[in-house]
Amino acid sequence: MIIAVDGPSGSGKSSTARGVATRLGLKYLDTGAMYRAVTWSALEAGLDLADTAAVADRARAVELGISTDPQRAHFTADGTDVTEAIRDPRISEHVSKIATNLDVRKELIRRQREIIDDAQPGGGIVVEGRDIATVVATDAELKVLLTADQDARMARRKAELAEGALTAEQLRDQIVRRDADDATVSQFEVASDGAVTIDSTHLSLEEVIDVISRLAKEAEAAPRDRES
Ligand code: C5P
Repeated sequence: MIIAVDGPSGSGKSSTARGVATRLGLKYLDTGAMYRAVTWSALEAGLDLADTAAVADRARAVELGISTDPQRAHFTADGTDVTEAIRDPRISEHVSKIATNLDVRKELIRRQREIIDDAQPGGGIVVEGRDIATVVATDAELKVLLTADQDARMARRKAELAEGALTAEQLRDQIVRRDADDATVSQFEVASDGAVTIDSTHLSLEEVIDVISRLAKEAEAAPRDRES
């Protein structure tokens, strides 16, 4: 079973997708971490991020280690542990330049599909990102678009960070500007065919996990009925 969870920054996608995977005993893929790891690698190599060909070469060459255990986030790039480094504001600031490089997307989508295929024999996977339902796994049994209004998303991101870690302007850049840039290559603001929209503005994390887990069980019981 594949559960796709797409949505804008700060909608609670990661915590939700991890929670659903843990509860249902599924694997978990954070596709945003892959774009972040390529960004880290390109910056580390001193590349000009506007040099799309060089960045795409880097994306194809870098060896990524992506954990699919919902209880343990662990990412490596060419053997270096980047689990913490990819959350740095510097990466959030630059990642959209990498994610709007269509050759990078092609490569990462290919790798994501491999990880998803490998997870199938184990029961399934919850995949989180921007284009999972629309591009990466269009055959997902359950497709969720997780939204929340802009103020709630900014407040959540602020709460995740250490006090004073970002200025108000940086926070806005991370949420509003990044989503605007990301939206030029992925459609995650309107639900795709067959996707369920969940507005989490007034819901707790547990409530969202409950709703998605229930929908997943329904989808598993009647896999393709929903579409007929
Ligand atoms: O979800 P997260 O904030 O970690 O994603 C980081 C960035 O990766 C996003 O801002 C977006 O540019 C990119 N991304 C993407 N497609 C995905 C997942 C993430 O373009 N499926």
